Amino acid sequence: MAGRAAGLRRTRFAPSPTGPLHLGHAFAALTAARLADPSQFLLRIEDIDRSRCRGGWESAIHEDLQWLGLDWPAPVMRQSDRLPAYADALDQLGRLGVIYPCRCRRADIRAALSAPQEGAQVIGPDGPVYPGTCRGRPMSDAAPDDAIRLDAGQALALLDLHRIGFADEAVPGTHRITAPAFLAGIGDVVLARRDMGTSYHLSVVLDDAAQGITLVSRGQDLFESTYIHALLQALLGLPQPLYHHHRLIRDEHGKRLAKRDDARALRLYREQGCSPADIRRMLGV
Ligand code: GLU
Repeated sequence: MAGRAAGLRRTRFAPSPTGPLHLGHAFAALTAARLADPSQFLLRIEDIDRSRCRGGWESAIHEDLQWLGLDWPAPVMRQSDRLPAYADALDQLGRLGVIYPCRCRRADIRAALSAPQEGAQVIGPDGPVYPGTCRGRPMSDAAPDDAIRLDAGQALALLDLHRIGFADEAVPGTHRITAPAFLAGIGDVVLARRDMGTSYHLSVVLDDAAQGITLVSRGQDLFESTYIHALLQALLGLPQPLYHHHRLIRDEHGKRLAKRDDARALRLYREQGCSPADIRRMLGV
């Protein structure tokens, strides 16, 4: 399964084993599988957050997906096996001069953002946009418990990019953000958390490339994050897949289903006698 499948649509479902799969996951998995060419749907386990992931949830994920009627080739990629690849990519970014170590804790960032000279707080895909306190620190100064941030300004200048964009087959229109809008609305995101050596953004970009994913199917909640991924792909010289940001499954109050929402766990529907066809009907897939 290595390499890019020439002309084929290869997709993946990439859950974190931090709880039971619920209806929202079923929708994401079934959508990715539906969009893939035959035998081109992959499963990937996003288990970099060791504090929240449990092995038991991983086997439950396999069980639920098989029950839904999905299958995928072995071996399944697991992010926890890929730490050396993430470290190599950080080295590559370090050589480009587009990352820096950051010692700020959440409270430091909050305090910096509430300083009187700062304007209204802007919330980006990962929370408040980082005020840049540690920007400019050299990587040679990195302490073991520092996070590593992208220097978005340097990255955009290095690539001479005035816009970052991607193609999305589900959300028509051209998706491009200007460099100033990227800096103001997204900013210097964390590429390696201090307890992990990587982050969702860095891992997902490297894994999609390593698995030859040609169509990334994911929820609309990650739409803005895709601009970060597009920038990382350009920096690391990786191919850009096509995107498909799908609608989110919400409860009767319009609230997005979360992993903690065990009431909608697939396993419970199964125990209550629902069939996979009932689940598909419920989700409209
Ligand atoms: N592990 C991520 C999630 O469950 C995957 C996101 C993605 O598809 O990029 O939301």
